[in-house]
Amino acid sequence: MNKEHSTVVAGHGSLSAGLALLDDLPQLDVAVTRLVKALSDEDIGERELAGIIDQCPTLSGKIVGLANSAYFRRNKPIHSLQDAIMLVGMRTVKSFAIATALQEPFSNQQCPSFRPGRFWLHGILTAHAARELSKKAEKKLAVHPEEAYLSGLLHDIGLLALAHLYPEALNDLLVENEIGNESLASRTEGMFGVTYRLVGAALLRYWHLPDSIITIAEHYHNPDYRGPYWALSGIVGTAHEWATNLVQQESSSPFNAARSRMLGISSDDAETVRKKCLEQLTVNLELSEIISGAKPEFYNPAAIADAALELKDRLVDTIGSLSSIRSLSDLDIRDKNESEILKDALKILMEHQDMQRCSIFLNKDSTLVNVSGLGWDEHFVNEATQEKKSIATHTFALGEGIIGMVAKSGEMKHARNCAVDPLFKKLATHQDYVPGSLICVPVRFQDITLGVLNVSHSKPNVFSEWHERFLMVYANMLGQLIVYNRVIRDMDSDITLRTKELQEALARAESLSTHDDLTGIYNRRYFIEHFNKLIQQCDRYNTKAAVLMIDIDNFKSINDTYGHLEGDKTLIKVAEAISQCARESDIVARLGGEEFIFALQQNNCDKAVQVAKRILEKIRQLDCGENVTYRITASIGISCYDQSIKAPQKCVEKIMQEADKALYKAKHSGKDCIAVHAEP
Ligand code: GH3
Ligand code: MG
Ligand code: MG
Repeated sequence: MNKEHSTVVAGHGSLSAGLALLDDLPQLDVAVTRLVKALSDEDIGERELAGIIDQCPTLSGKIVGLANSAYFRRNKPIHSLQDAIMLVGMRTVKSFAIATALQEPFSNQQCPSFRPGRFWLHGILTAHAARELSKKAEKKLAVHPEEAYLSGLLHDIGLLALAHLYPEALNDLLVENEIGNESLASRTEGMFGVTYRLVGAALLRYWHLPDSIITIAEHYHNPDYRGPYWALSGIVGTAHEWATNLVQQESSSPFNAARSRMLGISSDDAETVRKKCLEQLTVNLELSEIISGAKPEFYNPAAIADAALELKDRLVDTIGSLSSIRSLSDLDIRDKNESEILKDALKILMEHQDMQRCSIFLNKDSTLVNVSGLGWDEHFVNEATQEKKSIATHTFALGEGIIGMVAKSGEMKHARNCAVDPLFKKLATHQDYVPGSLICVPVRFQDITLGVLNVSHSKPNVFSEWHERFLMVYANMLGQLIVYNRVIRDMDSDITLRTKELQEALARAESLSTHDDLTGIYNRRYFIEHFNKLIQQCDRYNTKAAVLMIDIDNFKSINDTYGHLEGDKTLIKVAEAISQCARESDIVARLGGEEFIFALQQNNCDKAVQVAKRILEKIRQLDCGENVTYRITASIGISCYDQSIKAPQKCVEKIMQEADKALYKAKHSGKDCIAVHAEP
């Protein structure tokens, strides 16, 4: 059936119903036709090739572009086509030129599931493998390498044509069947009446390409084909299978052993070819991209499955890290000191992350001190002895080891393999546990590096870039936590201090409001208030009271003779002397200047006079002065309060005035004596 169709297509303009579609196949540009012909000629020289390519302006531009691409680029940019051919190599230029020239008529294709990048990658890989296999094939088979190359490059061209002619119909087929070419062939036959291979063969014939290439496009897939180009077909078929596997499934699958044997290719030779082709994979990827203008997407079910698993792992990690961050922000720092907080932070880290050990070193006066450390086993098994085991006593100077470097630079460091990392410093304490992977992250707050968070695992290459990022976030939060905790602590002790100061000031102020600043005995205010209460008590219990107004004699002359300071000392001594004469219930106060007042309860005036006498005697006995000693005297005026004598109600003020009057009398009687106020 295939033969019949191809004959019809090849021989006549009249097409069978199934092949009517080929009427719309694009014509090749005259220049491209010449190019394709010339490129099939093995002996063409560089200059001649440049001459032909020059006829196709877009193509020559693309080849110069290829020479300047990342893969080929040297120091100097390439401007001329001939230089580009020299650099890229005749063979690459040839395949590139043909593929580009043939791609051109199909460039505006509207079939979304047809991926030109992958199509040309497959073509180029097949071509490359076919050329190399042809060199290893038995000599007597006389398979020409360039012919093998071109046949390989164009063996699936029918798909490109269908994508151009019937984009929607082909799209439906491709969506249904992403992988298997064999069933794609029968599906195209079901839909268009011919397989895409026949379409390819017809197109190549239409373009007047050599018979060998046309035949291969039709028969390469069929291992039973025994026509004139059977060896070439076997080689391209083998290369096609391998390229299909490489792009779609297993990158390392070998060539079809049975077919290779038929061609006289040993398994060693096949392996050499396979490796050589794989080495060229990068450049071929690049070529396909430039030819098609689209990146050839590799897809590989195993790789996709791996990626899905990795994605799942990442998701678990992400949830873990969000939980860590949440727990850290929920951490209750009340009533905890810094090392307790840090230990809690490490526990949170261990709970949600796959790491074996972590620790925190804080920068204390430019030395990094281990303040908290936690191992996986310690956290989950050995809570009790954890502290002892995990806190290593080792410290690091700024810049020493990885930890020191991180603290100095403020930048994260990741030792993927500590055994070979020159920065990693093995410690004597690293006996049971030597880290294989280590990430050290600066714990920072604003511009200050407070310390270093270290996370490790005994195996090398355990942590990913993702861990680095997460730990940076975690360490930043930790930095804030440390600083806020310190601020709260400082505020706490500040508040305690201020409160104490305030309480003292309050006590002082309170005392000042009731006490005399100089002598420490009560002041006038206190006296009046309490004397009032005393009078009320007398009224209630029908008892008596007396007030003694005491004034130092000639005090002015003491100030004048010995100075004001000395005067103050004397005032203190007098206050003490008067206080010594008072009982618990009596009130002694300084009224101001050198005047004191004394109130007695439950007493009659005689008793008050006795107290006054004792006071005067005590004052007389006082040794005043330091270098030069002197004696002083005082005068006392007494007023008595006795409810029973039915005197008009006396108020406090009045009693004090009476005492003052009596004092005046005492002064006028020559001082150093007592006068009692007499009721009129
Ligand atoms: P008299 O015997 O009449 O009481 O004479 P006097 O000098 O004691 O009394 P006067 O009222 O003339 O003088 C009182 C002096 O007491 C005047 C003042 O400078 C002094 N004085 C008042 N308060 C203080 C004080 O707090 N410290 C000292 N050092 N002197 C004071
Ligand atoms: Mg006085
Ligand atoms: Mg006086």
